[in-house]
Amino acid sequence: MSDKKIPYKIYLDEEEMPKSWYNLRADMKNKPAPLLNPATHQPMTKEELSAVFCEELVNQELDETTANFEIPEEIRNFYKMYRPSPLVRAYCLEEKLKTPAKIYYKFEGNNTSGSHKLNSAIAQAYYAKKQGLKGVTTETGAGQWGTALSMACSYFDLDCKVFMVKVSYEQKPFRREVMRTYGASVTPSPSEITEVGRKILAKYPGTTGSLGCAISEAVEVATHTEGYRYVLGSVLNQVLLHQSIIGLETKAALDKYGIKPDMIIGCAGGGSNLGGLIAPFMGEKLRGEADYDILAVEPESCPSFTRGTYAYDFCDTGMICPLAKMYTLGSGYIPAPTHAGGLRFHGMSSTLSQLYDDGLMRALAVPQTKVFEAAEQFARCEGILPAPESSHAIRAAIDEALRCKETGEEKTIVFGLTGTGYFDMYAYEKFHDGKMDDYVPTDEEIAASVAQLPKF
Ligand SMILES: *Cc1c(COP(=O)(O)O)cnc(C)c1O
Repeated sequence: MSDKKIPYKIYLDEEEMPKSWYNLRADMKNKPAPLLNPATHQPMTKEELSAVFCEELVNQELDETTANFEIPEEIRNFYKMYRPSPLVRAYCLEEKLKTPAKIYYKFEGNNTSGSHKLNSAIAQAYYAKKQGLKGVTTETGAGQWGTALSMACSYFDLDCKVFMVKVSYEQKPFRREVMRTYGASVTPSPSEITEVGRKILAKYPGTTGSLGCAISEAVEVATHTEGYRYVLGSVLNQVLLHQSIIGLETKAALDKYGIKPDMIIGCAGGGSNLGGLIAPFMGEKLRGEADYDILAVEPESCPSFTRGTYAYDFCDTGMICPLAKMYTLGSGYIPAPTHAGGLRFHGMSSTLSQLYDDGLMRALAVPQTKVFEAAEQFARCEGILPAPESSHAIRAAIDEALRCKETGEEKTIVFGLTGTGYFDMYAYEKFHDGKMDDYVPTDEEIAASVAQLPKF
């Protein structure tokens, strides 16, 4: 098909929207390792997980054979309010770069929460409500997950308690207010209101917090409060399942025009947007039907894939959550307070970790200032002001397009533009004032943290 006919935005009609989520694990020969009970080192049972998580979500978490999960109608109706998200051909960026590469991005920032996180938040809130719960607790880093969850909870009339990483709570007061607008209560983490929070504060006074630490607090409150469960916005299999909507829509839109991508790029914090974007493509790759070059992009300051160790580790700093086998920097690793809050997690989804370990995808770490250069370049030609997290993928896409310029390759690149950066202007200010630095952990720092991995 001639290039001219491909519109700037490829939309899907309501009837063309996916009716099921796709569970990538069903097609994996090497399944991701199971979550383990930290006390017994045995796989977590359904009963054990149900004390922390909603029942239906536990079923999804443990199911590695069902390929397609029907999306309940209530969730599909909510999706229809802000989906399908646009798949945009970045004609202006291509022209600016003078590249023969064809660049597409799937834009997930087109909702009030400003990111893809709403895709899973609405599903998790729906199952919590269906179970008859009063509310849910969670952690949030940069604030996108907390915002998404508070929107979802207010829609289903559920209480929502959010522990927000302290550095973000201070840097992003407006996100906090968005959450409160939707009725959530927001506590900076580590806090004095949980046992684990008090312990962490005693050990690391003045800490700016971390996702791992906020998770511990949220789990403690959920398991000690009647009618509450804990929900998590990334990392878990269930979250990747919900986020598969991103990839399914992308593939349906590309298929309409007979476009087959050569390369798929996404930023990786806990791995949910990337896991969702690549799901149907990786499925084809696993079944031997097609091949794609898949690239995860992470910050140099928190390089779980590129410098981490593949081992069982805690998902939280307080070591109360189940153990997950993943690429990790160690649960005690507190990354430098960089501006991509959503990518500051020490570990990585166990599904993506297994795929990476099997050589089915690649990873790249990029420095913060280069990420903001790419963000600004993108904003100036494509119009959208991107989130710092998303800009990691932009950086890699631009670099690949520039490589294609050298080689003359007409490669088709698809990247995930996970969200907008309106609440990140403090970071943009630092960048514009030349006050942003590139923190790279030393080998000794990483080794010291990895030495603390649980041994058994
Ligand atoms: C949370 C977030 C990410 C990273 O989380 P993943 O689970 O790795 O997708 C990336 N971009 C934005 C905008 C986010 O809010």
